[in-house]
Amino acid sequence: MQDCIFCKIAAGEIPSHKIYEDESVFAFLDINPVNLGHALVIPKEHHKNLLDTPPELACKLISVVQKIAPAAIKAVGADSFNLGVNTGTSAGQVIPHTHFHVIPRHESDGHKPWASKEVTEDELKAAAEKIKKEL
Ligand code: AMP
Ligand code: ZN
Repeated sequence: MQDCIFCKIAAGEIPSHKIYEDESVFAFLDINPVNLGHALVIPKEHHKNLLDTPPELACKLISVVQKIAPAAIKAVGADSFNLGVNTGTSAGQVIPHTHFHVIPRHESDGHKPWASKEVTEDELKAAAEKIKKEL
């Protein structure tokens, strides 16, 4: 897609720190990493977010995440990783081209996962019922 920065990166029209490429998937380092080794895994084809991405291609992205995450962890001496897929603006998605964040984590890095809220058993039950109805 014209004007999509990630399409341009995948096509090599904008430079990136590429770490992996195959016929349908491209991975490179995030320019503003949460931790060093933070990588982005994207489809070469333009899709605006995960929900718009064909399932077979989403599976390919996951299989590349499974390759890249252990390599990134080892390379930067991390212990574990977070997989992030911001989907929609209120979830923090800024670039409207599907991407998985692979973020190496260290015990001492001080990053906190998102906050949780207290809910009642009834609220959980009602939410589960509503979601099941939507499926
Ligand atoms: P999101 O907020 O999920 O849309 O994430 C977009 C990510 O893309 C951010 O973490 C940015 O730091 C990263 N980013 C934006 N432009 C570039 C670029 N040219 N090269 C590498 N990473 C980028
Ligand atoms: Zn794109």
